[in-house]
Amino acid sequence: MTIRLADTHAHLDLPEILPDQEEVLARAREAGVALIINVGIGLENSRQVLATARKHPHVRATIGIHPHAAASLKDGDLQALTPLAGDPLVVAVGEIGLDFYRRRSPEETQKHWFRQQLEWAYGLKKIVVIHTREATAATLKILQETRSQLRGGVMHCFGGSLEEAHSFLDLGFYLSFAGPLTYPQAKGLREVVKELPLDRILVETDCPYLPPQPWRGKRNEPAYVVATARQLAELRGLSLEETTRATWENSLRAFGLEEKDFLG
Ligand SMILES: [Zn+2]
Ligand SMILES: [Zn+2]
Repeated sequence: MTIRLADTHAHLDLPEILPDQEEVLARAREAGVALIINVGIGLENSRQVLATARKHPHVRATIGIHPHAAASLKDGDLQALTPLAGDPLVVAVGEIGLDFYRRRSPEETQKHWFRQQLEWAYGLKKIVVIHTREATAATLKILQETRSQLRGGVMHCFGGSLEEAHSFLDLGFYLSFAGPLTYPQAKGLREVVKELPLDRILVETDCPYLPPQPWRGKRNEPAYVVATARQLAELRGLSLEETTRATWENSLRAFGLEEKDFLG
């Protein structure tokens, strides 16, 4: 039986992947990865991820500024990206959010640009891809402040509690799981994933980071998303086919995509 997978969060244009991007994409196809969401993290990177999506029919792009880069943003920068958002290959604004773990940008600066980018996304009528690390409460608070305008989104690399998961689900979000779901120390997260509605779960690599077992310590790439799907299947007591059918359909629904565009 063939399986069809979506990697809902990849960084194909970072220096770790660029040198052999074509081979990485070929291996993804062979592994059954029929859709890759290539996620923007900065001004220049957002242009690159869209250029890559234009070259590869199974890749879609998101544009946005990662909280690590928030301190480098200036007024007018988002407006400069706005013309890109008109491209139908741009399926979301992201990744945006808060990262109080590494704190590469000051907390208040991160919050300011998170709010600015949410407003920008609402104006563009786009869903949002959220990054949060050690900042879940603050992230939820900001999302809840503007919930009437939210069109949904994806909480990427989810690693929180069941209660936090439900807060995101209540906002209409999908929860995306990455390689850490397979790590021995992630027992709590594996318990959480058993309790979630299957129709709101996605899988991703966040490559080149966070490779799942058994590729830990190596560079991650979209073909490896199958390991996270396999872990999900085991936790839910389903076959890999049943699990990937669900996550595939969820991915299309989450990003407003049509299956016919990814069957070739
Ligand atoms: Zn992230
Ligand atoms: Zn990312």
